[in-house]
Amino acid sequence: MQISKEIENIIPEVRNWRQNLHAHPELGYEEKWTSDFVAEKLKSFGIEVHRGLGGTGVVGILKGLDAHLGGGGNKAIGLRADMDALPMTEENDFPYKSKFDGRMHACGHDGHTAMLLGAAKLLASQNNFDGTVYFIFQPAEEGGGGGLAMIDDGLFKQFPMDSVWGMHNWPGMDEGTVAVHKGSVMAAADRFEVTVNGNGGHAAMPQVTNDPVLAVSGIVQALQQIVSRKQNPLDAVVVSVTQINAGSGFNIIPQKANFIGTIRTVNSETRAEVHNQFTQICETTALAYGCIADVSVIKGYPVTVNDIESSDRAIEVASSLFGKNAVKTNLAPSMGAEDFAYMLEKIPGAYIWLGAGEGKSGCMLHNTKYDFNDNILPLGISYWEQLVKSELPLR
Ligand SMILES: [Zn+2]
Ligand SMILES: [Zn+2]
Repeated sequence: MQISKEIENIIPEVRNWRQNLHAHPELGYEEKWTSDFVAEKLKSFGIEVHRGLGGTGVVGILKGLDAHLGGGGNKAIGLRADMDALPMTEENDFPYKSKFDGRMHACGHDGHTAMLLGAAKLLASQNNFDGTVYFIFQPAEEGGGGGLAMIDDGLFKQFPMDSVWGMHNWPGMDEGTVAVHKGSVMAAADRFEVTVNGNGGHAAMPQVTNDPVLAVSGIVQALQQIVSRKQNPLDAVVVSVTQINAGSGFNIIPQKANFIGTIRTVNSETRAEVHNQFTQICETTALAYGCIADVSVIKGYPVTVNDIESSDRAIEVASSLFGKNAVKTNLAPSMGAEDFAYMLEKIPGAYIWLGAGEGKSGCMLHNTKYDFNDNILPLGISYWEQLVKSELPLR
């Protein structure tokens, strides 16, 4: 694709921001340096800044042209980037490598933040759209629910918007390609904690006990039928038991046993159904062993669902920039989860994957050698720019 001269001109600066952010990673809700950086940049572009939503969240407010210049409309859209890093130690060796052990931008949120800042600078200098753009920089995407925290703090009440848009770099997809899902794009990620209460005793006298270890073995086996027998094979579901704890000695049948794990689904109805099936199987199987299961299913991020009309518009924008063949619309959803799901539950919009190529030495997200691919900075900025112009066209 052809990158506009205007975008080409700001890329060296955007790359500097990106690498500077990379060197200063901060974990969820601790994005102090990062949010200062973002707020200061937005102000320098002449954009009004609102801070404090979700703790370290930042919202930039850019109004388009006045009525006598072809603007004056009330339509508003939100563009969202995430700012947080991951609790892991970087194994790269370049000048802008993380300055902190145990903190690393291994998911490319440094790139997302830099691209949205680049788009903000560009749109503020052009100012040729009709309506309002909210640039949303959220904390704590990596498991902390920072997007939800911003919503709970009144994001959509203080800044009413008609649609909200997200983007994630996607290693493994070619540079210059985009994926837009019509519907589910990321899974719901829930976890469970189950305690099975039995009746302990001497291992040599099992007849006077109700063995919770045996009950858990039976339950873990029985849970496999959710995916293999109870759910539609074409509707992706994961049920993984990842940790079992019980017992204190070779000759003691313990009083109780517990296990934890995760459930992933890509459809909200399926999610509710799987939760019920999970609880039922745990409780009834435990009973069959003379035990009682105490089941908690703890909801994490919901399914990230693109609004169909919004995804059609995202496809149009991406196709106009990258070419029709570069826009994939039939990829399966990822079983990973995304905090942006909460925003899409409230406001229609779409979340796209921006192809990031193979990554240096084939590194994928959350890898200790991952680095955001700076080649795609202009592609992400172009998408944001074009999306704003197409959602908020001049009259
Ligand atoms: Zn991540
Ligand atoms: Zn991420």
